[in-house]
Amino acid sequence: MQQFKIPLVFHPIYSQLDLPERHRFPIDKYRSLYQSLLDDGVADDVFNTPTPYNYADTLPLLNKEYVDGLVAGKLSAKEMRRIGFPWSEQLVKRTFTAVGGTLLAAELALENGLAINLTGGYHHAFYDFGSGFCMINDLYLAANKMLEHDDINSVLIFDCDVHQGDGTAALASDRDEIITVSLHCEKNFPYRKQTSNLDFGLDKHLDDDAYIEHVEQALNLALKCFPVDAVIYDAGVDIHCDDDLGLLNVSTAGVYRRDKFVLQTCKNKALPVVAVIGGGYQRDIDALTKVHRQLFNAAFAVHS
Ligand SMILES: [Zn+2]
Repeated sequence: MQQFKIPLVFHPIYSQLDLPERHRFPIDKYRSLYQSLLDDGVADDVFNTPTPYNYADTLPLLNKEYVDGLVAGKLSAKEMRRIGFPWSEQLVKRTFTAVGGTLLAAELALENGLAINLTGGYHHAFYDFGSGFCMINDLYLAANKMLEHDDINSVLIFDCDVHQGDGTAALASDRDEIITVSLHCEKNFPYRKQTSNLDFGLDKHLDDDAYIEHVEQALNLALKCFPVDAVIYDAGVDIHCDDDLGLLNVSTAGVYRRDKFVLQTCKNKALPVVAVIGGGYQRDIDALTKVHRQLFNAAFAVHS
């Protein structure tokens, strides 16, 4: 991958979070993914370092009381349980830098056609509460950031994580210029679904061919029905057959096919894409890294 020129966004803090033993979140995957790209010859200067997101810049997109409570560690025990992480200063710092990473990737995508954040996809975060390991909805904020550009009037958030992008759907529900599409396993978290512009609630145990067919239909339909100037792609790999939290039966090759199809389709239409790696919960970090790497392999195939 010596010629890999696509701008990537990474900060070591992505993996710096002390979690209780056996916590199911594979926090080391970000560092592992970064290292695997370096090991394969991706040059150091391809990586961009984000700064923490400044939420004062984006009010009133999110609820100030909630964000202030999160920063100060003043959310209730119940609110933190819903998020799924114990509160710490480290958690806040990591979260804000991760969101800053997606915002930086959004800028880089508009300049370069494609950029990838080595984290992101916090699609269960709502206006005034967090949920399912998500506190601040980076996808929604990135869409708003892209819309600040004169030539971007409509942004598609194409969410292929196995879980529904419920927070994104709710946040963008009254925003015609943000189009939300979610392909997810219907019988999976969140059990109370929100309404995206297009929702594809997939059956359990779908294999590669059936899954890819749905992805193709979803993206083609979205691009046909809505005017789209830019795309935010959540390339969650919890669709993988070995994932601890997914219920689909998609192979590593299937993940590659999906990512390549999405990136190629957008490239053919000259749509800038900001991609985030999204969910992926195998406990075996090396195996999980390999699945997340498919996005980068596909990006390399499409953009080199
Ligand atoms: Zn997920």
